[in-house]
Amino acid sequence: MADMIEEEIKVVKKKKKKKQPVNQLGALDDSNYYSIIKNWQKGIMRVNLYLIIMMLGVEIAFMIALDATGEISVPIPQYIPRYILRPSLINFVVFALSSLAFRTDKVRNGLKSMVPLVCLTVILANMIIVHYTFPAIYMTIIVPLFISTIYGDVRISRALFFVLMGTYAVTMICIVTTPYAVLPHAFVYNAIIGFIALPLSYLVVRSIVSYEKQKEKLVVDQTLVNRRLQKEMLYDGLTGVLNHTGMFQYLEEKIKDHVAGDQLRMAILDIDYFKNVNDDFGHEAGNRVLVKLGELLNKQSGEDVHVARYGGEEFAMIFTNLSVSESMKVLKRLHKEFSEQTYEGIDRKITFSAGLADYKEGDSSTAFFERADKTLYKAKNDGRNRIIIAA
Ligand code: GH3
Ligand code: MG
Ligand code: MG
Repeated sequence: MADMIEEEIKVVKKKKKKKQPVNQLGALDDSNYYSIIKNWQKGIMRVNLYLIIMMLGVEIAFMIALDATGEISVPIPQYIPRYILRPSLINFVVFALSSLAFRTDKVRNGLKSMVPLVCLTVILANMIIVHYTFPAIYMTIIVPLFISTIYGDVRISRALFFVLMGTYAVTMICIVTTPYAVLPHAFVYNAIIGFIALPLSYLVVRSIVSYEKQKEKLVVDQTLVNRRLQKEMLYDGLTGVLNHTGMFQYLEEKIKDHVAGDQLRMAILDIDYFKNVNDDFGHEAGNRVLVKLGELLNKQSGEDVHVARYGGEEFAMIFTNLSVSESMKVLKRLHKEFSEQTYEGIDRKITFSAGLADYKEGDSSTAFFERADKTLYKAKNDGRNRIIIAA
């Protein structure tokens, strides 16, 4: 949980610095999404290779079996180039070209997504050409179309559909024009069934993709809602800095990871005579002061400085990886900037007092906080508008 909060804090901080592109998938995590897709593509390429090797093995086994039973249709010297060498050579060349296209940066991402599927299409077409006598083999042409649903992109499936229609037509022409082909009686029906199956499959694939898109949108929306709720849980609505819960959870996390010698300290800030500001200029005017201090704190925040509003006009700064003097430098800069501010409707300079305390080995978050808080009260008692370091 603490890890998640730390992550969330980092994410929100990053977002504050620069607006991240939020596309549908990007809202979840672009890099994760693309690495999943990339692994899928690699998986398909692997399947292509296995398919090529398997086809080669099956053809050799067929040849041996048919030869042994005397059922071989053509003599072995013709069988080998026709059924083994030529298809395998084409398959390996296409596979090699696809692997190259898949690895190069010169091919656009959209096209690259199609490479493993086009490679599979050619392998299947080859298989249909070699085994045109088996009716079931024609239907394998729809397989790449269904695999394309993993991209969840209708454009990729549509482009692939046209590639498949073209390849299938060429495949049929190849079969018809093969000089040695003895076309089976049902060839025309088989060929036509393939032509009908492809557009029908495309329609099914399109609905699967749009259904998946709707589901994905629900997940993305829910994730965004969760993220917003989580943010609301940890951040103060008025100033945008961490709230009481966010601050203590961050502190717990830092204390858990703390090892002797690590720099960890916190300052507690409290606006001086703030009640008078409210009484003299109104609550709204008081709020403007709080918002301004929130803005200035946010400006100082970064990797090593975390800021929080843990109470009404009480703020905190948590310093990590900074020495006492570096932490003081940040605090003093903030103190000076805040005291120089002017506010609409308030004809008064406003200041804050602060107490800075180091984390001591074995401290709980409350003990740590209380030490800084006590130092703040010393600053108040010493006359306010000052920063004091705990003894
Ligand atoms: P001191 O210098 O001792 O800190 O004096 P103070 O008047 O600032 O101290 P005190 O704690 O008595 O007053 C804090 C005031 O902060 C009381 C309350 O009205 C005001 N306050 C707390 N939360 C808010 C808020 O969200 N908006 C506004 N405008 N005022 C707030
Ligand atoms: Mg106070
Ligand atoms: Mg005060």
